[in-house]
Amino acid sequence: ANGQTARAGETARSAEYAARAASVIPGGVNSPVRAFGSVGGTPRFFVRGSGAAVTDADGTEYVDLIGAWGPALLGHAHPAVVDAVQEAAAKGLGFGASVPGEFELAEEIIARMPDVERVRLVSTGTEATMTAIRIARGATSRPLIIKFAGHYHGHSDGLLAAAGSGLATFGLPGSAGVTAETAAQTLVLPYNDLAALEHAFATHEGQIAAVITESAAANMGILPPDPGFTEGLIRIAHAHGALVITDEVLTGFRASAAGYWGIERPSMPEGLRPDLFTFGKVVGGGLPLAALGGRRELMEMLAPLGPVYQGGTLSGNPLAVAAGLATLRNADAAVYDHLAAAADALAVEVEDALTAAGVAHRVQRAGTLLSVLFGDYPVAPANYDDVLRQNTDQHRAFFHAMLAGGVNLPPSAFEAWFVSAAHDDSVIGRIAEALPAAARAAAAV
Ligand code: PLP
Repeated sequence: ANGQTARAGETARSAEYAARAASVIPGGVNSPVRAFGSVGGTPRFFVRGSGAAVTDADGTEYVDLIGAWGPALLGHAHPAVVDAVQEAAAKGLGFGASVPGEFELAEEIIARMPDVERVRLVSTGTEATMTAIRIARGATSRPLIIKFAGHYHGHSDGLLAAAGSGLATFGLPGSAGVTAETAAQTLVLPYNDLAALEHAFATHEGQIAAVITESAAANMGILPPDPGFTEGLIRIAHAHGALVITDEVLTGFRASAAGYWGIERPSMPEGLRPDLFTFGKVVGGGLPLAALGGRRELMEMLAPLGPVYQGGTLSGNPLAVAAGLATLRNADAAVYDHLAAAADALAVEVEDALTAAGVAHRVQRAGTLLSVLFGDYPVAPANYDDVLRQNTDQHRAFFHAMLAGGVNLPPSAFEAWFVSAAHDDSVIGRIAEALPAAARAAAAV
């Protein structure tokens, strides 16, 4: 690890690539957070990943806590996943017709999610949430959608209002290019506030098609629902004839084997459940694949059975399906136990280092997910406004010191940290070695 750490900071090749990319790609990136906009410095280009490690273009190896933003549940380039993709590729890259892997993956999803009866495969989480909303509008014949401030559901027009993730990172309120008419169809409410939800339904009686919520918010850092919030949300929405869409794109098959809903479900009253679920990231094992699912009568509103249109040239692509299947089939109970233990161990190390350096902070958790909030939080944060008060200068100093110490953290204070099945004790130990200097860097801000 020392040789690698000594090399950290050599970024000539990444800098050259970044300049070259910026001359042909807006901002040099194909997704904004990759540009290091909120932390500054040279965004790293990566050339390899294996297990818990990634290697940049200058040959520096890092312990990775991004995990491809979620998909790398088993670690990078897991042999079972790579083999499955290579085998599928050798048989053809896609036919624009059905392949057996599609129903096998749908069966795998349904086996883990008892409230999902039918599944449609798409290519991105954005499509999954967009389609779920179209079904909700189709089923209810109502126009409005409720989302929560700081929740990110992808980049479709109607869902960019007060979204977290890249929009939080860049401090953007929404996006140019979205019409006022579209924006007006999305009501944005504070998270964890059932009174605000009741009020919105009372004000717009008969107009609200659905409430969409991240099952645990994970795009403004981690912010789980308060006890009772999910139950209250479902009760209120259903009492007013609206559907509930639980977005598990990030948390699905990650926070637990059955997502964050799998953690909450056992304590819910019988029959109280969301209507539609969206999945992404882990379900595609690192290739472009996402899914939506839910009750049969709702899902069968989709074409070709019903009047709600959705389709895609690459939907159910055999390589993506093979990667997703190999990932889910290898993510057994032992893997989830391991992820939970790794997240627990990492949380303790971070707490210890920041406390020793006198840095006020909170480690936020949702199942196997974690994130760190810098700042004074005597009371747990409940919503986006609370999270926006964090000290992003401290995050920036911490981030760069960790990178110099050989740990690849998300380059934003508003993103989750991802462990994998390959994050064993020695990997956590390497992170622990980098933490004291990073905690001191944050303390010096
Ligand atoms: N929903 C959630 C909760 C997400 O975290 C994301 C992506 O980060 C999306 C939707 C959008 O997914 P994609 O980036 O695949 O379009």
